[in-house]
Amino acid sequence: MSKKERNTFLSLVKRDLKVVWHPCTQMKDHEKIPLIPIKKGKGIWLEDYDGNQYIDAISSWWVNIFGHSNPYINNQISKQLDNLEHVLLAGFTHEPAIDLAERLVKLSPPKIKKCFFTDNGSSAVDAAMKMSYHYWKNKGFKKKSKFISLSNSYHGETLGSLSVSNIDLYKKTYEELMIDTIVVESPDCYLKNEKHTDKQHTEIMFDKMLKTIENNHKEVCAVIIEPLVQCAGYMRMYHPIYLKLLREACDKYNIHLIADEIAVGFGRTGTMFAYEQSKITPDIICLSKGITGGYMTLSTILTTNNIYDAFYDEYTKLNAFLHSHSYTANPIACSAANASLDIFEKKQIITKNKILSEHISKSLKSIATHDNVGDVRQHGMIAAIEMVKDKSSKKPYPWEERRGLKAYEYGLKNNVLIRPLGNVIYFMPPYIIKEREIDKVINVIEGAIDIATK
Ligand SMILES: *Cc1c(COP(=O)(O)O)cnc(C)c1O
Repeated sequence: MSKKERNTFLSLVKRDLKVVWHPCTQMKDHEKIPLIPIKKGKGIWLEDYDGNQYIDAISSWWVNIFGHSNPYINNQISKQLDNLEHVLLAGFTHEPAIDLAERLVKLSPPKIKKCFFTDNGSSAVDAAMKMSYHYWKNKGFKKKSKFISLSNSYHGETLGSLSVSNIDLYKKTYEELMIDTIVVESPDCYLKNEKHTDKQHTEIMFDKMLKTIENNHKEVCAVIIEPLVQCAGYMRMYHPIYLKLLREACDKYNIHLIADEIAVGFGRTGTMFAYEQSKITPDIICLSKGITGGYMTLSTILTTNNIYDAFYDEYTKLNAFLHSHSYTANPIACSAANASLDIFEKKQIITKNKILSEHISKSLKSIATHDNVGDVRQHGMIAAIEMVKDKSSKKPYPWEERRGLKAYEYGLKNNVLIRPLGNVIYFMPPYIIKEREIDKVINVIEGAIDIATK
């Protein structure tokens, strides 16, 4: 690296820290932990101004599924730019939004017929909550105003979506501002009794959900849930049977099932959408993150005609869903999403991911035997490793020790971007990663575990 490049690097860091307040960050950490200005991205690689390269092993917070600066998506976006950058979606429409809505409906179960656009994951969850609540109001159920969610769940950071989330780290400070919600213990299979299979554990845990529904259904609008993997909740996983049982209970007691597929949608867990593995149709599906291939902020909620029809009325009845965002269905974002769906089709990504996830599974085998690894778990293209202080009791390291941070720093030194959640190192790569690159990442993860558990 030349002196000039080094100076650019340093000056960018200095300028940034003067004016930028970063997300999910204690800014004081940057007195010690260097901030990394990225110059460019290509495929799975990120390159900083110092000339260092990093494999993006977490898909830039789970959004980038086909690599950085993907030539096909770039091309489709630039074609769209020549025609229309944006137009409001009320009273007007455009081809990229229509195409995308048609395709998403087609990828969904037969009862899902409508697509309501929002513009980021949290806003999709907020809109889904409002839509469910409003549906019951329009239908004359005056008492329904509550939501049920799982412990250790994550649905976003806005006040509505944070209310149905359940991770203390993000929520506790704001407790007084939260909407009152009902929390049911998660079926998290990491916590199962060793005697049970994942399926048995999940079924046993469903009893708690069923009891809560039985006791509260008159006041409950919906159960909101992350299908199969609680991603921000330390990548904890459960068996698909849970959603099947939940669907039956929601039907019986007149409650909506909202599937938050924001992290697990678009091929992450081995199927296009995670709920498919339970063979259910949710009432409302929230999508974002991977939807644009990681290019732009966009989200949608998909729903049934049954819900749509409850809002369809004379204007003066004031039953319409008057929710909106300025950048609803931005045409450039929609064109990126359509390009991303093209790649899914043309390259048969779901089939190819099966081979990749088998490879990940094989290369993870040796990690499980590590003295300070309490669990290695995987659902398709998500793998997670739980570092523990004591293997037999699964006693965790105290969070204050920040073991994950040590793993992060080791990763960066070895050209891999991992960003552990507490004591959990996870691997969630773009789908274009190659087998030898997977091996490289897993190798670095092994080294990171050694360093972090010392
Ligand atoms: C990331 C995430 C959200 C929030 O999406 P943002 O775009 O970050 O607001 C909601 N639900 C789940 C499951 C997520 O992983």
